[in-house]
Amino acid sequence: MQKFKNIFPTNYQAIINKINVIHPGRYAKTRNFLNGDITYLSPYISRGVISTKQIMNIILKNGFTFLECEKLIQELCWREYYQRVWQVKKELIWEDLKQAQPDFIHTKMPVSLLHCTTGIEVIDEQLNHLYEIGYVHNHIRMYIASMACNVGKAHWKIPAKWFYYHLLDGDIASNNCSWQWVAASFSSKKYYCNQENINKYTNTNQRDTFLDKTYDEIASIQVPDALTATTLLQLNTNLPITKLPILDVTKPTLIYNSYNLDPNWRANENVNRVLLLEPTHFANHPVSEKVLDFVLALSKNIPDIQVFTGEITSILALYNESNILINDAIISKEHPAFAYYPGIKDQRDWMFPNVTGYYSSFFNFWKKCIQSL
Ligand SMILES: Cc1cc2nc3c(=O)[nH]c(=O)nc-3n(C[C@H](O)[C@H](O)[C@H](O)COP(=O)(O)OP(=O)(O)OC[C@H]3O[C@@H](n4cnc5c(N)ncnc54)[C@H](O)[C@@H]3O)c2cc1C
Repeated sequence: MQKFKNIFPTNYQAIINKINVIHPGRYAKTRNFLNGDITYLSPYISRGVISTKQIMNIILKNGFTFLECEKLIQELCWREYYQRVWQVKKELIWEDLKQAQPDFIHTKMPVSLLHCTTGIEVIDEQLNHLYEIGYVHNHIRMYIASMACNVGKAHWKIPAKWFYYHLLDGDIASNNCSWQWVAASFSSKKYYCNQENINKYTNTNQRDTFLDKTYDEIASIQVPDALTATTLLQLNTNLPITKLPILDVTKPTLIYNSYNLDPNWRANENVNRVLLLEPTHFANHPVSEKVLDFVLALSKNIPDIQVFTGEITSILALYNESNILINDAIISKEHPAFAYYPGIKDQRDWMFPNVTGYYSSFFNFWKKCIQSL
């Protein structure tokens, strides 16, 4: 069995149970600590199995007040904020969003992060965790990004691709925007970490490392030896080989993908259901074998779904002889990664459906969300 399954079960009821045990007060107090009481829900939100709105509704129904849940709802709102940025920026999410990243000196991947040999023990341990489980804590993600981009002076894009490849919750919006937030191409200043901060939040006590300095010192040091070696990345996705799906072309087809695996979506309708794994999508946005296994395991919650490795055009071709118009035959959920799908697009579930468009700061977005309640 894949190791991730102990922490990230893929059965739908087990996922809902994870929401039911959330204690928002403990979450708010401890979320920044490596052993904090966090939700571990991001892989399911990213994959479209559950929505931010569903989580908010369940925790409020479980008797917690909005005030008690506010910190968690605010964090869930970061997800919505970044999705809204992606909807507006589209492919520009791959470019520096607000200003050019200051002070980068290369566009490669630091070798020590790739090989878990930075010398910062807890970081190396957590990098191994990333490879084994496909997940790391938010604070560790910030440390890694800061070491890569601000101390190691890499441009954010290549390390972000490496991260996305390995994360079960890989989400282009949350990932790219967070890397850019750390590297100051989507924020006003770079985020730096030092050994003291790492020790505090990871309950460790390592000393005398290249990060054992004040923030001001770290902001002005040369790239330390541990981060000087860099390399190019080769990331590929090995998609399963499948047959064409067998469709009843008198009925529409619901298109699922790695960002939409919602078992409740049009659950009672008599339709074809296809998990579409497009080689072109994964060539542009590769993911690891572990991530792909996770996606395939989550799709098992959807009765009668057929997995198809191929392009959307092959599904359209199956309707050539049918009387149904393509615009009625293909149904998907709105998503910036798949804007090119034809047909009907259902809206995703949002906590704050009326707050749309681009906001240059999260806190302006959040203010609007609160006003909209
Ligand atoms: C460099 C970097 C890269 C990241 N890449 C991704 C990514 O590819 N996919 C992804 O889902 N998240 C990403 N994040 C955001 C965040 O780290 C994860 O969402 C969070 O750690 C997931 O764990 P959790 O569900 O236990 O979080 P919890 O703390 O329990 O939070 C609950 C939910 O709130 C949202 N959330 C919490 N913190 C953030 C945040 N900082 N930004 C956006 N949403 C947040 C997520 O939807 C999360 O599932 C990244 C953060 C950084 C700093």
